[in-house]
Amino acid sequence: MTHDSPQQAPGGNRVETFGCRLNAYESEVIRGHLEAAGKAGTIVVNTCAVTAEAERQARQAIRRLARENPGAEIVVTGCAAQIDPERFAAIEGVSRVVGNEEKMRADTWSAARPEAGEPTAIHVTDIMAVRETAAHLVSEFDGRARAFVQVQQGCDHRCTFCIIPFGRGNSRSVPIGAIVEQVRALVDGGYREVVLTGVDVTSFGGDLPGRPSLGQMMRRLLALVPELERLRLSSVDPVEIDDDLFRLIADEPRLMPHLHLSLQAGDDMVLKRMKRRHLRADVQRLVERVRALRPEVAFGADVIAGFPTESDAMFENTAALLTELGVQHLHVFPYSPRPGTPAARMPQVPGDVRKARAARLRAIGAANLEAWIAGRVGGEDRVLIEADGIGRGESFAPVALEAGVAAAAGSVVPVSLIAVEAGRLVGRPRMRAAA
Ligand code: SF4
Repeated sequence: MTHDSPQQAPGGNRVETFGCRLNAYESEVIRGHLEAAGKAGTIVVNTCAVTAEAERQARQAIRRLARENPGAEIVVTGCAAQIDPERFAAIEGVSRVVGNEEKMRADTWSAARPEAGEPTAIHVTDIMAVRETAAHLVSEFDGRARAFVQVQQGCDHRCTFCIIPFGRGNSRSVPIGAIVEQVRALVDGGYREVVLTGVDVTSFGGDLPGRPSLGQMMRRLLALVPELERLRLSSVDPVEIDDDLFRLIADEPRLMPHLHLSLQAGDDMVLKRMKRRHLRADVQRLVERVRALRPEVAFGADVIAGFPTESDAMFENTAALLTELGVQHLHVFPYSPRPGTPAARMPQVPGDVRKARAARLRAIGAANLEAWIAGRVGGEDRVLIEADGIGRGESFAPVALEAGVAAAAGSVVPVSLIAVEAGRLVGRPRMRAAA
């Protein structure tokens, strides 16, 4: 779970973002609406509800911001506010609580703030009643080298540990035309890499005329925006990858060889109790198939440690699967009970055991990444520079340019991989390597 806390320009607005890439995208939309409304000095906290820790940090940030900015208009939004608006409205200094649907509307931000002494206003509608997701044109991602584009919103699944559908509603897709327009605007604005994001991206298109698949949409996008150099996918459901997407993985060099799987566990009993749609063997087959199509693909995965009823043996199955597959980019979450979810009512694994299992899995991830990086020396890559000569290669390997070499953030540098330093590959620009 990330937390972005940008500097506030004097008299400027400030948007604090917790959580996922979709929230990061939406914070840029909010920033644009605030500017368009001529607002100054408004503070927005865009919350996340994925873990109890994410909520705790958001509440802490809100209290700090209220203390440091007495009298400022403070608006709280995001999944945690959508799910429990009263709780955030009760925090001293909060002016308004706004829902996930309302936060994307321009009129929400042009509205006048409540008068001093008036009760905190709550504008949160039933997110399950929302049927469409509108597109918003974002032209810039504050301080970021890559741009995020929302293609889908909400989720129709009900995994037993997950609170997200209650914050974001059911699955709905952004029309392809709007996605193309958004990506073209970003490419015209100088972005070399775009990440397609959503809540359950692989369910893209199910609600659109003709039910285009995610792979079909991406193929059309790449055809209609030939200037787009690098297209990356955020996390995907292991059993919902369509044939067009498999074909793109095999034959489209502009699709980055990096698949982040919403894996969650590697034990079949745990996966069943999570109400996931895949089993261990499905993931093994998927990784095998993708590696046969494009050997350089690197895998990421989200995994929960200590899901209720997870025994030592079940946990070892997850650990063994991550080692067997050599998952390079591992995100591990100790299970966090979310009130209102079925898993929160199941027999819980003790907190210290959850933490210890999470540490074990992170160590496996670190070892996989280290071995993979070491094996890349002598090869080549194209690095998107994020800042200070450091960036990510096509399969998301961390790469630092050789000492003394500078390159602008957002530029793409072809490199020879010459060494490993401080857990990163060292890249020598190929023009220089050729000299
Ligand atoms: S697929 Fe499952 S984990 Fe993902 S958002 Fe939907 S309910 Fe949550």
